[in-house]
Parts: sequence; C-alpha cells; structure tokens
Amino acid sequence: MEQAEILICGGGIIGLTLARELIARGAENILILEKEEEIGQHASGRNSGVLHAGIYYPAGSLKAKLCLRGNRLMKAYCRSKGLPLRETGKVVVARHEGEVQTLHKLHAMASNNGATVELIDERQLDTYEPFARTHQVALRAADTAMVDPKAILRSLVQDLLATGRVRLLMGTTFDGLKQTRTAETSRGPISYEVFINAAGAYSDTIAHHFGLARQFRLIPFKGTYRELGSAKASLVKGNIYPVPDLRNPFLGVHFTRGIHDHVYVGPTAIPAFGRENYRLFEKLSGESLRILLDDARLFFLNPKFRTVALTEPRKYLARYFFEDAKSLVKSLCPDDLGPCGKVWIRPQLVDWAKKELVMNFLVVKDQESLHILNAISPAFTSSMAFAEYVVDEYLGSTGCGEAAEVRRASAGTALCAPPHS
Ligand SMILES: Cc1cc2nc3c(=O)[nH]c(=O)nc-3n(C[C@H](O)[C@H](O)[C@H](O)COP(=O)(O)OP(=O)(O)OC[C@H]3O[C@@H](n4cnc5c(N)ncnc54)[C@H](O)[C@@H]3O)c2cc1C
Repeated sequence: MEQAEILICGGGIIGLTLARELIARGAENILILEKEEEIGQHASGRNSGVLHAGIYYPAGSLKAKLCLRGNRLMKAYCRSKGLPLRETGKVVVARHEGEVQTLHKLHAMASNNGATVELIDERQLDTYEPFARTHQVALRAADTAMVDPKAILRSLVQDLLATGRVRLLMGTTFDGLKQTRTAETSRGPISYEVFINAAGAYSDTIAHHFGLARQFRLIPFKGTYRELGSAKASLVKGNIYPVPDLRNPFLGVHFTRGIHDHVYVGPTAIPAFGRENYRLFEKLSGESLRILLDDARLFFLNPKFRTVALTEPRKYLARYFFEDAKSLVKSLCPDDLGPCGKVWIRPQLVDWAKKELVMNFLVVKDQESLHILNAISPAFTSSMAFAEYVVDEYLGSTGCGEAAEVRRASAGTALCAPPHS
C-alpha cells in the first residue's frame, strides 16, 4: 500500500502552496492526489490572473492581511522564477454620484490595510486609463498585478518534485475513506498520518466523508466573459472595475487586460447545474437535481441570493451586458465585444443551518484531517500567505499531531469577504 506522511487531495493553488509551506517546515513525505491528467483544469487555472490588492476587506482583518501579504509573496515568487508578472495597477470608477461615497469608504479601508491606494480626479485617471469613465473621482490601487496562473502552477509543481519529498499522482481520485487514516483512491488504498482536503469544488463532499462540515454544501455559479476586439483593445491598459455592490458576492462587469494582452470583459454569473458544468450538458449528474432544488430553496429563503439570482442573469442579454461595460469605458460600441471561450465556475459554499452564502474561507479540522472549504477569490492571490497561516494556526509543525481541536475560521477573521472576480 502507498504511504504518505501528509496526503493532500487537490493539486490546485491551495494544495500546491500548502505542500510548499509544509516542505519549508520540514515535511519529508507528501503525496498529492489530482484527479485530472493535467494541472490547472479548474479554478486555479481558469481564473482572471489578477493579484488583488486587498482593498475590499475590513481594516485589520486576516483576509486583508493575507491578500496583501499573498500578493507580495506571489510577486516575489514570479520575479525569482522569471515568470510573467505585469504590475498594471487597477482603477475603480464611480458610475454616478451615489457611488462616490463608497469609493471614499473603500479608500479608507484599503489605506488602513496598508494597500497603496489613492483617490484620483478625472485628469489623473486619464494618465492611467485614458478611456475610463468616472464620476468626479476614482480609486487607483497600485498593488494590483497580472500573472499567468498556469505558469505559476507548473512552476510550483516543478519546485515540489525537485525536492524529492513530494510525489504528485495525476489522474488519481480520492473516493472515500477505507478505514481510519487510509484513503480509498482510484489507484487503491493510501495510508497517511494527516489528510489535507484542498479539493476546491468538491471540498464539501470530501469533508463529509470525514463526518465534518455537514451543514455546508456547495452550489456552483457559472460565468462567461467577452473579449474586446483587437482594434479596440488599446482602450484598456490594465484593470478597470466598477464600485462593487458590497452586498453582492460578485464584483460586477469589469475590464481586465490579461498577461497575454487579451482584454476580457465580464463576468456574468448564473447558477450552474454541476460542479464542473463548464459547457451546456457537461458533467451533469444525479446531483444536478439536488443543486437545482438547493438554488430554488435559497431563492425563497435568502434575500441576498434572490437579488443575485434576479440581477446577474440579465447580463447574459447582450444589451444589458453592453450597458454595464459602456458605463466604465468611453468609445465602446456593441460590436467591440466579441465572444470568448473563457468559462468559469465559482463553487460557492452555503451554510444550510443559516441558509447563508459563506463569504469567508473556512478551515475545519479533526485529529487526522484538515479541510479547506470555500477557497474563493482572492484565494489565488492569498495562497502563499494562507498556507503560512494554515500551517501556523492549524497544523502546528508539519502535521496535525495531537492537536485535535476542531477550529473554524469564521466571518471577518478569515479570507474573502465580499465580492470577487
Ligand atoms: C472566474 C474566477 C476568477 C477568479 N479570479 C481570481 C483572481 O483574479 N485572483 C485571485 O486571487 N483569485 C481568483 N479567483 C479565485 C481562485 O481562482 C480560487 O479561489 C482558487 O483557484 C481556488 O484554488 P483551489 O486549489 O482551492 O481549487 P482548484 O483550483 O479547483 O483545485 C482543486 C483541485 O482538486 C482536484 N480534485 C477535486 N476533487 C478531487 C478528488 N476527489 N480527488 C482528487 N482530486 C480532486 C480538482 O481536480 C482541482 O484540480 C477566481 C475564481 C473564479 C471562479
């Protein structure tokens, strides 16, 4: 039987950076299971590639600290490895008088968090984004940068394998628990001392195998982008975002110049009927009906979800999508927005005891296992700082050891409060 000191389920950014941190702390024998044949097939390889600047989080909260620290650690990593990194910054623009106050609030929060931000007038905005529109004032965040997420994942894998202390089993699925400290996988049983669940969209079901996090279950949201045609791509230099509605878990339609110079516009967001339902009928299963019923329940029981469900889908109509886009950038015509193959799924955790969307990272632990739930944006940015935090707070040294306490990072103390791209 295969044996591992630490068995990590999931080779996304969370699993890889946790392995990296554990190796730095002296772990000798880590085994990572990844069900896909290639790395980066899900959120970590499909995201926007933005290193966020931590501007949306309450002052002093852990999520603010982790996002900014993660941003700096990831930039340093990219520089040290010669990986693509473009420090474009970002502007957040106000579409009308009513958003100016929120912009000032964001500026105060971000400054308190240590982010490099400034409020700029329309003339200054011109120097950063000559075609951006704003009402009187805009927020500029200098720390925001663009990276190539897949290049980072590949580089991390290479580093881990080079230590000789990490093995990566691609095309290998965790199927359940055979017995205590033995996992059942598609390659047979694997015994471990500590199990780490970093399975992204499947993290809730895996925690359930361990009898944990029973009141949490994911519902997936699906979204698409459009692309600014090459003739108009010069309208956007970096990142142009609207002032977000802080009650909504999404950031609103925005413009992002990716590391390879494509300018993406979006995203849209609608409930999806499968955790990996990227295309119309892809990966639908018996669970699709359960997801549909969960969506319906939440629609009736949760006003915030109802608002999202009623406002987001209209962006699928070209007219509404264009209206949103046009409110951020001048000289835009409907034909400038072309189709784009980028499809994403955001696995959103719901606390069914409270009927609430969980807005934070959630970490749940027992004697033999640790589970990272709800690793939503800005988890890519924060991942290296988050790995430090998880090992310090939950694992102690290189393993769970006798620290059996089940701890949970709850609202305001962990990552990811409001909306995200
Ligand atoms: C549209 C979108 C844009 C985003 N943009 C940004 C951004 O610009 N900046 C940012 O910081 N964050 C962004 N995020 C968030 C970020 O991408 C995610 O938070 C992060 O990638 C989550 O990483 P993960 O490792 O938890 O999950 P994943 O990347 O999904 O990795 C989990 C892995 O586990 C594997 N797995 C699942 N089940 C099993 C099993 N049973 N056995 C074996 N393997 C299994 C999966 O195949 C997968 O590879 C974005 C998210 C979305 C959806």
